[in-house]
Order: sequence, then C-alpha cells, then structure tokens
Amino acid sequence: MNLSEARRRAAERLRASGTEYPEREAEFLLAEAARIDRSFLAAHPFLPLEDSAARRLWEMTERRFGGEPLQYILGSWEFYGRSLDVAPGVLIPRPDTEILVEHALTFLPSSGRFLDWGTGSGCIILALLSERSDLTAVAVDANALAVSLTWRNLKLHGLLSRCFLWHSRTPQDIPAGDGEFDLVVSNPPYIPFPLISGLPREVRKEPLSALDGGEDGLLWYRALFGWAPAKLRKGGRLLFEIGDGEQGELLVQIAPSSMEFEGIFHDLSRKPRAASWLRV
Ligand code: GLN
Repeated sequence: MNLSEARRRAAERLRASGTEYPEREAEFLLAEAARIDRSFLAAHPFLPLEDSAARRLWEMTERRFGGEPLQYILGSWEFYGRSLDVAPGVLIPRPDTEILVEHALTFLPSSGRFLDWGTGSGCIILALLSERSDLTAVAVDANALAVSLTWRNLKLHGLLSRCFLWHSRTPQDIPAGDGEFDLVVSNPPYIPFPLISGLPREVRKEPLSALDGGEDGLLWYRALFGWAPAKLRKGGRLLFEIGDGEQGELLVQIAPSSMEFEGIFHDLSRKPRAASWLRV
C-alpha cells in the first residue's frame, strides 16, 4: 500500500467515528506512523508504506476512533510555533491560548519576571521564555504530571535555567516575595462544574482538574485575585484566559480594588478569550 492509500483508509475510518477533520487527522497520524514530515507526505504520496509503519498507523487510528484526543496519540503538539510534548493527564495546549502570549509580550518589561499559575504542559512559559531571552519565570501547577511535563518541555528547549517550577494547589503555598512579579498569567480551570458533562468527548478525556472551575467557574480566579495583587509590583499586570464574555464581565465585578481593569482581548475566532488588570 502506498502513502496516499494509507491516508485515505485512515481518513475513512476516522470519518466513521464522527471526527470533524478526518483527512487532516489522518495526515498527522500517517506522518507520525511513518516518521516523516507532513510536507514529505504531500510531495511523495506514491511511496510505499512499510509494514511496521502500517501497523503503527492502524493502531493509532483505532485509538483515535475510540475517542482518544489526536494530540495524546501523537505525543507532541505545536504552540506558538514550537513543538512541545503532550501527555494524557495534562491539558492539551489550545491555539486560543496564544493570545495570552501575545499580550504578555507587550506587558513584560526588559528583564521582566512572571509567574504562570496552572502551567499544564508549560506552553505559555515556554513561548514567553523562547521569545524573550531576558525573561525569568515561575511555573506553578497542582498536578505533578503537569510539573514534570513542563520540566521536560523546558529542558527540550534549553530553558530550564530561567524557570523555577513549583508544585502546589493553592497560590498561598508559593514561595514568592511581595512585589516580585511584573506579570501573573493564568489559564486556570474555568468551566462551571455543571457544564463539564456536556463537553465534547475528547475534552472529557483531558484531566478534570484542569477544566473544573467549581460551581460558577470562578473558583480559581477568586483565589488568584486574593493572592496576586500582593505579589505584583505596582504597574504589574494580571492576565487571565477566560471562557467567554459573560465570564469576563463577572470577573470585572469581583476583581479587588487594587487591580484596575484594562480590557478584554479576543482570540483568532474573535471570541473574548483574555482579560487583564493593572496593579495600582
Ligand atoms: N479552553 C478549554 C476548553 O476548551 C478550557 C480550559 C480551561 O478550563 N482553562 O474547554
């Protein structure tokens, strides 16, 4: 069987499972199974697929057919133009989150220091430290798997020396000094608990602890509003990912008086996706 036929067969199987982009996903799986680039695949569709690669492809296709997220099967995914490892048990980086990186880059002064709460795969930290060699950071996550994945990703990109990793659930445990940071950034778990059971089946394969924002979705925002102002220098920023515009409005209402609301930012699909506050 050649590469093109293999891709078509994998895509057919994926289509039968209701996957939204079967052709594109089949291409990712085939490239991974055959250990080639997707561009090589496009240029040489009639090269034969070796038996061992075909076995890997069918095995991965069946896992995807069973509802496992594509990114967990591939083991790596791209965020802000860089490849990072992803693994079951840790939230998969979303392109929506790249908007936080863009704004953080404009907020951070030269030699700036920031903290990322709920770091997950380390995607935000990795993007910021890679873009700017003057920055240093603290990465915090409650999930030990996330901390070790972040460690791996930072090591992969040679960034460990500029990042301190901390494993704890409550912000109060973090050994940070008053006024230490120019920026606290977070994509916290923000889905209201009653909505979790209605999430797409792929998302429900991701860790609940990275999604569940308590009854109203605001649990971790409240905790960070209570902690971050003291740790930010005056003129520093708090930057949150948000679920939607309504959540943004609620956050504006519950923010402490030491934090001045700056604005809501939209993602690539023009949805309200981030909000920022200035420490006054
Ligand atoms: N954006 C994620 C989703 O697709 C939610 C991540 C979070 O709770 N921070 O559901």
